[in-house]
Amino acid sequence: MSNPPSTNGADEARVLDAVPTGLFIGGSWRPAASGATLAVDDPATGKTLVEVSDAGVADGMEALSAACAAQQSFAAMAPRERGEILRRAYDTITDRVDDLALLMTMEMGKPLAESKGEIAYAAEFFRWFGEEAVRIDGGYAIAPAGTSRFMVLKQPVGVCLLITPWNFPMAMGTRKIGPAIAAGCAMVVKPAQQTPLSMHALAEILAESGLPDGVLNIVTTSDAGGVMEPLIRDGRARKLSFTGSTPVGRKLLEQASDKVLRTSMELGGNAPFLVFDDADLDKAVDGAMQAKMRNMGEACTAANRFLVHRSVAPAFADRLTERMGALVVGRGTDEGVQVGPLVDAKGRDKVGTLVRDALDKGAQVRIGADPHDGAGYFYPPTVLTDVPLDARLTREEIFGPVAAITMFDDEDEAVTAANDTEFGLVSYLFTENLTRALRVSERLEAGMVGLNTGLVSNPAAPFGGIKQSGLGREGGSVGIDEFLETKYVAIGYGGQ
Ligand code: NAP
Repeated sequence: MSNPPSTNGADEARVLDAVPTGLFIGGSWRPAASGATLAVDDPATGKTLVEVSDAGVADGMEALSAACAAQQSFAAMAPRERGEILRRAYDTITDRVDDLALLMTMEMGKPLAESKGEIAYAAEFFRWFGEEAVRIDGGYAIAPAGTSRFMVLKQPVGVCLLITPWNFPMAMGTRKIGPAIAAGCAMVVKPAQQTPLSMHALAEILAESGLPDGVLNIVTTSDAGGVMEPLIRDGRARKLSFTGSTPVGRKLLEQASDKVLRTSMELGGNAPFLVFDDADLDKAVDGAMQAKMRNMGEACTAANRFLVHRSVAPAFADRLTERMGALVVGRGTDEGVQVGPLVDAKGRDKVGTLVRDALDKGAQVRIGADPHDGAGYFYPPTVLTDVPLDARLTREEIFGPVAAITMFDDEDEAVTAANDTEFGLVSYLFTENLTRALRVSERLEAGMVGLNTGLVSNPAAPFGGIKQSGLGREGGSVGIDEFLETKYVAIGYGGQ
């Protein structure tokens, strides 16, 4: 962990200096009413980068009022103009990718190359939904009896509350903000307190791109529940979109039921990664590295359980161990680093606890499993084999760089084990047998299947889970529907 820095301290100071640290309400930045601030830390060092305003309930309510004031005129803005705002923001994000990546790496920890990848992915949601803004459709039909007509139109759902997690600080925002703008909805966004800076930078870009004041409001707070619950229960917001853990999602669904809000929930996962005896092992190992190590394993789509056919398990484990062992761990700003720190001490300690539990139950270590105890929240890339199915890490999200391998003997056993979870976000499947590929894809209980690939995320595809992994879809042509209401107008015709 002593690679030379690929960015210098002056770059870091310049980028930090440029990012606003207040609350963004009604088109301007201002401090919290209480004057409180909260610290944003660098997970690679544990040191504070900057203090940002810490919103209280009154600030949250003001943000909601600003969104409500902006809603009507924004809904009336021409779709093409809303699309152009998103397109300009896409261009600016793309132009500023280096600075935005440095900011993201500092607050979240992922290596610069991964931050750049996330920023490109985040920007694509704006390009995609900028294009979708002008394709909001409707309908006109003759009633079956022929005596009346139906007109169907789509209208913005209204003011939205958007809550995002720390693991993809910009993309989880643009995935919601993009369709909200395209549909004509004003919003209050609450970013994760650990990573608000990327969202603050995004708000500046949208304002520069011509987004009217009050359409986007940002409240960063150390009291997420205290600030958001009154907004959810207020009744003026009509939609709640959340990305985060399943326990918090459950709580929010309960709160949203009070005023019957539309909800979208992108929740936790426990992805199985199946490797059959007829898989191309090169592809499977490449896919495993992508599905496991993207974002240091801190992704809802991370492969959590590797289920590998007994005949290929030793070769798969050998190759995966070699690849994991070659990864360079360090501060994400340093040259050549491929694996950054986990987000905080709690996240790192949870990974350690899950690994120890698996070892106590009989798992074998191929590499890793020895947590670093210096500054920063690092956990080494780890491969475990012979992981028993009663180990906690087969049930809970690991959210770290740990590959847990279990063997199976036949397809039924593999599919049963894969589906044996309350989650259903994504499943991965590696086989060269076409019939098996289709059959198993149909049998897997997941909103998404990665077939011979370790990456499913794409702004043009419907992202989302089934079971306790969530409700609704983000991205694709259905992504904008989550922010639209369908209205039907019955038209009297022919004297009816
Ligand atoms: P989390 O603890 O549920 O937090 C997510 C967001 O909710 C944060 O902004 C958090 O604020 C806020 N929050 C926490 N308690 C709240 C409450 N009572 N009321 C309102 N907001 C509240 O999840 P996390 O640990 O940050 O993120 C990791 C989880 O997100 C994992 O389970 C992962 O699988 C899931 N995730 C899912 C997807 C998907 O698309 N399905 C994508 C990415 C991540 P503070 O952090 O500021 O307290």
